[in-house]
Amino acid sequence: MSKIKKIAVFTSGGDAPGMNPCIRAVVRTSKYLGLEVAGINQGYQGMIDNNIVDMDHHSVSNILQLGGTILKTARCLDFKTPEGRKLAYDNLQKNNIDGLVAIGGDGTFNGIELFSREYDVKVIGVPGTIDNDLYGSDYTLGFDTATNTVIEAIDKIRDTAESHARLFFVEVMGRDAGCLALRAGIAAGAEAIMLPEKDTSIEELIETLKAGAAKNKSSAIVIVSEGDKSGGAFNVAKKVKEVFNFYDTKVTILGHLQRGGSPSAFDRVLGSRMGFAAVKALVAGESRKTVGLRGNQIVLTDIKEALCGHEFKLEEDLLEMSVVLA
Ligand code: ADP
Repeated sequence: MSKIKKIAVFTSGGDAPGMNPCIRAVVRTSKYLGLEVAGINQGYQGMIDNNIVDMDHHSVSNILQLGGTILKTARCLDFKTPEGRKLAYDNLQKNNIDGLVAIGGDGTFNGIELFSREYDVKVIGVPGTIDNDLYGSDYTLGFDTATNTVIEAIDKIRDTAESHARLFFVEVMGRDAGCLALRAGIAAGAEAIMLPEKDTSIEELIETLKAGAAKNKSSAIVIVSEGDKSGGAFNVAKKVKEVFNFYDTKVTILGHLQRGGSPSAFDRVLGSRMGFAAVKALVAGESRKTVGLRGNQIVLTDIKEALCGHEFKLEEDLLEMSVVLA
């Protein structure tokens, strides 16, 4: 088994708070273990363009608290072609890189899985997405920060909702997964939560709102996950307004502000743990694995297993509780 000599780290797909602490951990752990380390700018695109820079302890000073990713991220169609991946491999060879730490989501993991089957390079994936929808980790990087960002926004919306007896529909990110909407809804005391995983009819929603009004609630907040089948917050608001006009109705789309911001303490520690573990895994000869947190233990999962066939399910107790406590 050949020993890893030089690791490169990159971020790919959607950015998420916590990526910088992870980059920092990869660089510093590598240096500590006597390895060379480089950063690839703009994900797979940078691999193809040879946009690769050597890094040292100092290159990652003062980034722990920064949102986004200092290495930038990109979506790269060329990496999906054999020619693109060949160029990427040639550039890794030019830079003497034999190990990769890829921080990203499903798409990023598909990329390294394929690449490591085609070429002699060891790969470890770190789950970074605010959606928290990847198998192999209880939490993904960025989810905790995004949840805190959402509840901070909803707390502010609640102030005005309460002052004017208003009904607010707040749209939260999550095309396929309602994890962010569900946690944020519980943490912010939303009256109802519309999720991609659970069909809630407009009639049911109206009944819930009526029940709230009957309990003398003077405002209501409905969280709508962007992937909810009713078609987003504006649509839901319009349909509700047609039959339920107890409150003045407003819509807020939180949008990209959910991705930004300084990583929470949880995401800083998680990013650090995952980066540290990813380098140690490469040094131990592991490859084609993802790093994850399960029951507060860092675990490795086969990347194939992380990618295929596991439907991500929302916790039943949280679903039930969100209704009971609303
Ligand atoms: P995420 O990693 O957040 O899911 P994307 O789905 O956009 O984000 O994937 C990030 C990048 O990974 C893509 O732009 C592409 O370069 C690469 N990628 C995704 N799927 C594949 C694939 N099947 N084969 C090769 N590369 C892929």
